[in-house]
Amino acid sequence: MATSVLRVPPPQGLLRPLAVPERLLLGPGPSNVPPRILAAGSQQLLGHMHPEVLQVMDEIKAGIQYAFQTQNRLTLAISGTGHCAMEASLLNLLEHGDTALVAVNGIWGQRAAEIARRLGANVHELLKPPGEYFALWDIEEGLARYKPSVLFITHGESSTGVLQPLEGLGELCHRHGCLLLVDAVASLGGAPIFMDQQEIDVLYSGSQKVLNAPPGSAPISFSERSREKMLRRKTKPTSFYLDMGWLANYWGCDGEPRRYHHTAPINSFFSLREGLAMLAELGLESSWERHRANCTQLCQGLRNLGLELFVKEEKARLPTITTLRVPEGYDWKEITSFLMDKHAIEIAGGLGPSVGKVLRIGLMGCNSTSGNVDRVLRALQDALGCCRRSRL
Ligand code: PMP
Repeated sequence: MATSVLRVPPPQGLLRPLAVPERLLLGPGPSNVPPRILAAGSQQLLGHMHPEVLQVMDEIKAGIQYAFQTQNRLTLAISGTGHCAMEASLLNLLEHGDTALVAVNGIWGQRAAEIARRLGANVHELLKPPGEYFALWDIEEGLARYKPSVLFITHGESSTGVLQPLEGLGELCHRHGCLLLVDAVASLGGAPIFMDQQEIDVLYSGSQKVLNAPPGSAPISFSERSREKMLRRKTKPTSFYLDMGWLANYWGCDGEPRRYHHTAPINSFFSLREGLAMLAELGLESSWERHRANCTQLCQGLRNLGLELFVKEEKARLPTITTLRVPEGYDWKEITSFLMDKHAIEIAGGLGPSVGKVLRIGLMGCNSTSGNVDRVLRALQDALGCCRRSRL
């Protein structure tokens, strides 16, 4: 009898067909992928240096320049998620011993501070309670006291639902000899941002929120000021994969012939290209207006259900992700599970400093519709009745 040399059998789970249920993703991301973007991602592969792929990369670059409102040459998509872009921006800007100032009013500032510390930077944190944003004078005090070379701040704080005003911030940073780094993963396309006019030095986002593409590619752009800081580096960036010098070349941003750096996630780029194309077709202003209007409708509906919004000031509410306080007497997990099990709708609990305090509802890109607002409000009303009943 033939005996097998294999000690590990084929896993049973892999011998069954892949099963993916239908769900309405109204959490803080990812959001649902529309058929056009799904179709783009399932195209046959091409080689990562084929002219057609390089052409798609050029179109992505132009799409990011539009979405960011920038003319920066050094504009590309990182092969990775939003965290990867966060790492890429910090590790290319910071050298061991540099001073960084991080605005922390939720999880993203905490994460940026952690990454900057791992890079050997002297990190100072400016703190605000979750649900609040920073005023220019808060930042100015920190810039004067710590004299950082980089300030990190989050435009759309998805853990708390706060929209950070950016007006005047770039100019302020530059007066203090500091570069401005902004995370717009959760806000890009959903709230106005003007990279060049607002003098932002590094801006990054993600593919899976308003752009409605699968996670795995992350738009990023560097101003001339930040490019000069990178050129003045005494040491190489600690990551080869995320070295902006190499990536700039691969993305055709340095005027040199393109060289192989890594095998790009080509199908993710196809999807990202379509997400950016859909945003360009709709137009940024219409997209911002759509997110604002649906967020306003959602907030009104939540108040009508007797629920309390977490962010008090209307202008400080992120149009893409709305946070509400977990209602008294309810367990947030029961509510999110109820929506998932009974309505096939994902909403989320808090994250980091907002865990246990809030529920988060995302309406991003194609998911930001009046119909989806009605659907999630009906499901929540059902949950408020049923979850309470189950506790009596
Ligand atoms: N920044 C913000 C504001 C985010 O909302 C997210 C994702 N929730 C990230 C960064 C990290 O992105 P990713 O999960 O794609 O790595």
